[in-house]
Amino acid sequence: MNIQNYINGSYHNPIQNNWIDNYNPSNGEVYGQTPNSTKVDIDKAYNAAKSAFRQWSQTTLEERSRILIKISELLEANLDRFVEAESKDNGKPISLAKSVDIPRAASNFRFFGNAITQFASESHESVGQNAINYTLRQPIGVVGCISPWNLPLYLFTWKIAPAIAAGNCVVAKPSEVTPMTAYLLGKILNEAGLPKGVLNIVHGLGNTTGQAIVEHPDIKAISFTGGTSTGAHIAKVAAPMFKKLSLELGGKNPNIIFADCDYDDMLETTVRSSFANQGQICLCGSRIFVEASIYEKFKTDFVEKIKQLKVGHPSESDTNIGALVSKSHLEKVKDYINIAKEENGVILCGGNEVKIKGFENGYYLEPTVIEVKTDECRINQEEIFGPVVTIMPFNTEDDVLQMANKVKYGLSATLWTNNLKRTMRLSNQLQVGIVWANTWMMRDLRTPFGGIKASGVGREGGFEALRFFTEAKNVCIKY
Ligand code: NDP
Repeated sequence: MNIQNYINGSYHNPIQNNWIDNYNPSNGEVYGQTPNSTKVDIDKAYNAAKSAFRQWSQTTLEERSRILIKISELLEANLDRFVEAESKDNGKPISLAKSVDIPRAASNFRFFGNAITQFASESHESVGQNAINYTLRQPIGVVGCISPWNLPLYLFTWKIAPAIAAGNCVVAKPSEVTPMTAYLLGKILNEAGLPKGVLNIVHGLGNTTGQAIVEHPDIKAISFTGGTSTGAHIAKVAAPMFKKLSLELGGKNPNIIFADCDYDDMLETTVRSSFANQGQICLCGSRIFVEASIYEKFKTDFVEKIKQLKVGHPSESDTNIGALVSKSHLEKVKDYINIAKEENGVILCGGNEVKIKGFENGYYLEPTVIEVKTDECRINQEEIFGPVVTIMPFNTEDDVLQMANKVKYGLSATLWTNNLKRTMRLSNQLQVGIVWANTWMMRDLRTPFGGIKASGVGREGGFEALRFFTEAKNVCIKY
């Protein structure tokens, strides 16, 4: 099935007629073509967005809200089609696409459809000076949204929903590796009555299509989720043009387990936080630190549970671990397993590619647990972004805090303990943007989402996202 760009409310081939193969990770076969769009396609999308901006920015909040909620309802009505497409394009288990990815994409539109009607600005009375100040929150204009392949429609809509809710028009690029659900979305946008040009979806490679969005002088803000080195490159290109930037980047998140936690709950959740979506979630707890007194028990129980996970075809309902997203990503993760061996890491389980009968060319890898002797080894410091976790024991709260913070990333951390004071102490001191205690990836869309250090700049979610996608203008009136 061939994919097309969605520009000005209709589908188009790329102007220069360049295409990229789209692979099905479950069997390694090409199943369609994706546009490899260039600057001329981005210019076309920008012009459509610019033409739509005046009217859309003046559209009432109730009307914008109504359209966003309609998009959400249509996604829910077409759930199965989107679920199948996401699973096929990405390799993720169909059960995950059905329980998480597509429902969350629908929630993103519903949430920001509601949030925009509650988005208020401030006023300040300058007492004794006979003046009042009020703040206008104005849409920026045409903005760019660039998203990765791991949670394709989920993260794509997490950006475009607040952008359009706030009255902007958008030029958006999903990952070229997983373009399918963003492509299908166009039809739903039309059915929901989104005016043409408000959202334009252009497909292609990062360093051509994505780069053309970032380089466009009149696209005034960029919301990007992806790798840290890509984020650094985007920041460099955008800085001389003074673009507003939101960068959600990589992570190497600690999962810190104390002996006083609810053990069974912790064990079950740690399986999920380690290997959900084949470990390809920026929030996965890829560094597991366990208090020494329960380390041996945890190691045995955890490995036993991981061995029971079924690596299988994504379309099978009992598959726990589907395919990795691409051949090159599979090779990268395998390289890290080799690095672990060179660094004297002990592979407690996994470590091998899996050949599934009938799908031998798919990109499958066993969930892998590696015991490390030091937290400073490469596999404990660098983002692998696959089904690989490290485990090691710790003795004191202070020791584990030092190790948790001793990475360049700062996205999220998970704590397992029933000691409230300890939870609060560590939450204060962990160098991350998000802390979960006794749970993982529980999301309330009103809360700020994002990281510090090499995990990014800015926050998404709730009013933070609406603030990013608007400019604050203060008006001072003397009376
Ligand atoms: P990449 O950085 O490779 O790509 C992300 C997006 O940017 C893709 O659409 C990509 O296009 C595009 N891109 C690549 N180069 C450029 C460029 N020069 N200019 C503009 N756009 C460009 O990341 P991945 O897709 O590999 O995603 C995995 C990464 O994303 C991991 O590091 C992960 O931690 C991070 N991530 C962070 C999250 C967070 O919220 N902090 C959430 C999810 C993932 P193309 O794919 O076509 O090359």
